[in-house]
Amino acid sequence: MRDFNETSSTLTLGDLTITSLSDGELHIPADYFSNTQPHESEKVTPSTRFGANSWLIETKNRKILVDAGSGNCLKERFPDTGRLNWQEPGLELKRSSITDVVITHMHADHIGGLSANGTSLFANAEIHIQAQEWAFWTDPKLLASADNGQKPMIGLIQALAEPLKKQLTQHPGDVDLGSGIGLLLAQGHTPGHQVVHLTCGHEECFLLADAMVSDKLQFSNPDITYALDSDPADAVRTRRALFDRIASERIAFSATHMNTTAFAMLTRQENGYAFEPC
Ligand SMILES: [Zn+2]
Repeated sequence: MRDFNETSSTLTLGDLTITSLSDGELHIPADYFSNTQPHESEKVTPSTRFGANSWLIETKNRKILVDAGSGNCLKERFPDTGRLNWQEPGLELKRSSITDVVITHMHADHIGGLSANGTSLFANAEIHIQAQEWAFWTDPKLLASADNGQKPMIGLIQALAEPLKKQLTQHPGDVDLGSGIGLLLAQGHTPGHQVVHLTCGHEECFLLADAMVSDKLQFSNPDITYALDSDPADAVRTRRALFDRIASERIAFSATHMNTTAFAMLTRQENGYAFEPC
């Protein structure tokens, strides 16, 4: 069912083949997480590895890329990101075969690999995003009113977004893309964050993106929040609802920043959940 190695894992769901692709790793400081108990914050140290997964979904006639990693845009701060190297000259054929791109949300570690030097890299793809996500990040007033600490991040996101404009389909909430691929609005991490829900018959899989950021902290305590969550309380509600469904219905899932490309399941444990590779 699943073949697993260091940089990718594959799950088959009927006619769908879902591959987790590692874009490398990042290191996020422990103090980016709030609502922690002392024994919890110690679980994240400077050497704790946060993964950077994106996904390729293949059907009989479509290739759908879900996020694209960082490209070159975060290498200064996180030198081990951008390993998917979508901008490399030898990958034209692979890039042109992508029929659809799903943007889960517009943080640079998810959209940095979609363009290079102001040019869209997946020129044949229809790009799917939540309308409110696009509206929030591309609003000129957002950059103008941001404080100096936030300006570089917002400026980078707006520069990365510009070349994607012509290919966009903006969705106003949950949407069925056909072929067993659904997008569900899962707000909190960002205003229009969405997750991918895949189905084939009775089998399901979730690609959670950043509904969960720290596997060391937020499985066991889903109430822990993250500094980049735009609405931390909403992020907790969304995470708890998704975890509850995944655990109750025994659904396989993957998330961007898990320290593995492997798909997993959740079992209930105390106030939270335990991760169980599948
Ligand atoms: Zn992220």
